[in-house]
Order: sequence, then C-alpha cells, then structure tokens
Amino acid sequence: MKKIGVYTSGGDAPGMNAAIRAVVRMATSKKLEVFGIYQGYTGMIDGNIHQILPRDVANIIQRGGTILKTGRSAEFMKADFRAKAAEHIRALGIEGLVCIGGDGSFRGAHALWEEHKIPVVGIPGTIDNDIFGSDNTIGFDTAVNTALDAIDKIRDTAASHDRLFIVEVMGRNSGHIASHVGLAGGAEEIFTPDANTTVERAVERIKDSIQRGKSSSIVVTAEGQKPGRAYDLAEAIRKKSGLDAKVCILGHLQRGGSPTANDRILASRLAAAAVEVLLKGQSDLMIGTEGQKLITVPLDVVVKTEKKTSMDLINLAMALSI
Ligand code: ADP
Repeated sequence: MKKIGVYTSGGDAPGMNAAIRAVVRMATSKKLEVFGIYQGYTGMIDGNIHQILPRDVANIIQRGGTILKTGRSAEFMKADFRAKAAEHIRALGIEGLVCIGGDGSFRGAHALWEEHKIPVVGIPGTIDNDIFGSDNTIGFDTAVNTALDAIDKIRDTAASHDRLFIVEVMGRNSGHIASHVGLAGGAEEIFTPDANTTVERAVERIKDSIQRGKSSSIVVTAEGQKPGRAYDLAEAIRKKSGLDAKVCILGHLQRGGSPTANDRILASRLAAAAVEVLLKGQSDLMIGTEGQKLITVPLDVVVKTEKKTSMDLINLAMALSI
C-alpha cells in the first residue's frame, strides 16, 4: 500500500481535525502518501481530492470543525454515483480509505467496499455518541462539556430567580448527551428519545422538590425528532401544574469549539489505529473503544445495531437530585 485517502462526512464534531492530523502523520511515518477528500462523499464524486503533507495539518489539533469540510450527499446513496466516486479513488492510485463520521457515513463506506472492493476503515466521529461498538465517539466529550458549561450558567439565573428551566440539548434519536449532561448538571428530570420519562413524572418530581425546599430546577431534554421540543414540554408542564418553565435551546453551539483533551486523545488513538489496520490489509471495519482498549467491529454490525441510552445514568441522576 502506497497511498491512502481520508475524509470527514456527516455532522462535524470537535476532534475531527485531531483525527485527520493523526491519519496524515501516522501514515507518513509508515511511508504512505495521504490524500484528503473534501466535503465527504460530495468531494469523492466530484474528484475534489488533494494530497496532504504533515505540515498541512500543523496547528489544527486544537481546532473544532474539520479542515477537510464535511457534507451530506444524496447522490452517494445511488450506485452509479458511488461508481463514479470509486473511479476517482482508483485513478489516483488510492488503495485504502479512512472514513471519519457517523452511522450514515459508515453505510456509505460499507457500500464502497461491497461494490468496489476499496478497503475502508471507519472511526466514529459524532457528538451524539450513538455509534454501536465504541464506548465513546470523537466530539462527544466536548459537546457534553459545552452543554454542561451552559447549564452551569443557566443554574445561576435559575437559582437567583427561583425558576424552572428546560434545557434542550442535541440528540435526534439518542439520549447520550442528555443523560450525561443531566447527571453531571444535577438535573431534576431527563427526557430522551428512548427513556419513557413522562410529563406527569417530571411535574411530580419538581413539585416534590419544591416541597422539600428546592427553589429552582433544571430539566434536560434531548431535542428528539423536532428541535424546539423544550417549548412543547414547557407548555405541557404549565398545563399540568401551572408551573412556569423557561426554555433554553443550546442548538449548534454544542457542535463547535476546541476539542477537550479526551477528544484529542481519542481521535489520535483511533486514527493511528485505522492506518495500522489498513496496512494489515483489513477492511470494512470500525475502530472503537471498549474501556481503555481499542477494538475492531465490522461496519455492517455497527450500522445495524442500536446503542441505547444508559438508563443507569438517568436513574442515578434521579436518585441524586432529591
Ligand atoms: P452521519 O455519518 O453523521 O450519520 P449522515 O447520516 O448524514 O451522517 O450520512 C452522511 C452521508 O453518508 C450521507 O449524506 C450519504 O452521502 C452517505 N450515506 C448515508 N447512508 C448511506 C447508504 N445507506 N448508502 C450509501 N451512502 C450512505
């Protein structure tokens, strides 16, 4: 193997740059040339692919976003466009790919391998942490800390005005950010797409807490299918209890920012391992973490299996916010 490609795809996540840097530098140290594919599958289809040298990735380990840009490509869902993408890869003599992205990106990577036998190894990059086969994904720790920082600030106002706040965090299909932020932020109640938290229970818990002398509360909710869910919850709580809830939607600010040390370390380890796995001649795998260990998991297993929100974390948050 002499040349490999690297791309970021789907939603951006802090730490993707640290991963790109590690791919480029580890591969260079193994005498490989590295090509950056810009805007994910869009760039692969358009041939927007350029060599990257170790100095090109200087000073990016601390930057959020992705220097390769990312994208979503409806065209790549079609076999004829994937064939066009594969042609560009082959024309440049690229013999292996590192895909940094989430579930959708891995589906695309799996299709490239199945249809065109282009070796590809995935590393999980998404703030949502909703990837089966890895305890943590690149960007999750940063997103949780960003949301937590916001909650700590909101708590100042909540406490000063004796208010109830509903804070909406990201997570369309998953509650990993909500459960972690809820526990770490001392939330009274946590709503996720898969926990069966009800408005009735939330109202009961908040009223109980008021009786016990608490004057302010924080409820954390994942956005679910419809961003702005926090407004619906506030209305439902008001109807049920007369309690007035203020809403704060954190939105895209959770995606940006300088990656935490944990995310930089995770990104560096996963990316370096991906290069080594490609060099061993392996493909169609994701590198993940299990405890402190790095593991490989077949891409089709990763995309077929759901990683559920930890009810233990939610239950612990409930037990501790009395
Ligand atoms: P993420 O990787 O963060 O989950 P998306 O779900 O948006 O992000 O997926 C990123 C891109 O991966 C999509 O825009 C599409 O180009 C490609 N992709 C997703 N699913 C498939 C699929 N089943 N087959 C081929 N390509 C896919």
